[in-house]
Amino acid sequence: ASIFDGVEKGAPIEVFALNKAFLEDTCSDKVNLGVGAYRTEEGKPWVLPVVKKAEKAVVDDATLNHEYLPVLGLDTYAAAATGLLLGEDSLQIKNKNAFGIQTLSGTGALRLGAEFLAIVMGRRTFYYSDPTWENHQKVFLSAGFTDGHYYRYWDPQLRGIDFDGLISDLKKAPEGSVIILHACAHNPTGCDPTKEQWVKIADVIEEKKLFPFFDSAYQGFASGDPVHDAFAVRYFVERGFELFCAQSFAKNFGLYNERIGNLTVVQRNPATTAAIQSRMTLLVRFMYSNPPAFGGRIVGKVLNNAELRQEWMESIKTMSSRIIKMRSLLRGELEKLGTPGTWEHITNQIGMFSYTGLNEEQVKIMIEKYHIYLLASGRINMCGLNEKNVKYVANAIYESIL
Ligand code: PMP
Repeated sequence: ASIFDGVEKGAPIEVFALNKAFLEDTCSDKVNLGVGAYRTEEGKPWVLPVVKKAEKAVVDDATLNHEYLPVLGLDTYAAAATGLLLGEDSLQIKNKNAFGIQTLSGTGALRLGAEFLAIVMGRRTFYYSDPTWENHQKVFLSAGFTDGHYYRYWDPQLRGIDFDGLISDLKKAPEGSVIILHACAHNPTGCDPTKEQWVKIADVIEEKKLFPFFDSAYQGFASGDPVHDAFAVRYFVERGFELFCAQSFAKNFGLYNERIGNLTVVQRNPATTAAIQSRMTLLVRFMYSNPPAFGGRIVGKVLNNAELRQEWMESIKTMSSRIIKMRSLLRGELEKLGTPGTWEHITNQIGMFSYTGLNEEQVKIMIEKYHIYLLASGRINMCGLNEKNVKYVANAIYESIL
């Protein structure tokens, strides 16, 4: 007998289970549209050339060692990350109203921010879009929040945002609720609010005294332009909101397994910096003590060097352009086949993911009959497409809808 005999299995994590099923599938036509990572036209992961260069420079730098980093991370890196988010000329940075904390990728930034809000600030209520990235609820609940609600987001009829629903749900949120907002490239729908809609969202958040917590996992990766992708966060900051923003460098630097992220804190008064940093320090200390160095050194080196940064800007263009091209090829093929329904949403959506509008039954056909793997929600990763398989995928969508 073991003390662990009574331990029951937890629910499987859909995206990992799907990936496993894909790897075990022996069909030569199989297509993986499930993974949450960039793939080249050849279906391979991509190490950005500028990342390779920075890695080499870090390894060869004789002044570096493996001493512990400060609990809140490398400050040159965190400042560069916050600068990328808010703009190097941001007034909030200049006035010391914004600072960054190095975290264990985007998830770690969400968790740290949520722990701060729950444990230090006593917040219990949070709102997330319906649907949202599946981890949002779990991370907030694990951090001490107890009261999670969705706000309406996806309208299946419209294949776009249910904006009236969103606004009316936010209006019902009690004062002090934390509102999780996708900074850009909404996961899983690929639908972002327009600039005019962001203004209205900000109006409600201000009026109802809610707390905006942005999740920025795709800056620069979505449109190819990091300034464009930071519009919503910068707009809120310029309007004077205090907020948190979780940043991930998994996608835009291809540094998935280095777990490199940042929590940007924006406050109204620099006098609160010391207390916030001290409480964050304790939260990190009790969780994982201090962060790893390698990813922060790479991203810091690239962002803080004009030449390397320029090279990075070109790489994010390469990635985003490939995704945009796949969107237009897929839509073109679907329309050529006369697939029932409308398909503009495929090219209107932004980022790696697309909500196709396929239902669970149709997804089942895609997987079982065509060996094309996608989430039950109908979400596909555009990066799984290439010029060779897009016709096959379009045809399978056509067949599974009929
Ligand atoms: N937020 C969203 C919306 C995401 O899509 C992701 C990546 N799937 C993350 C956060 C965090 O990812 P990571 O922890 O790997 O940075």
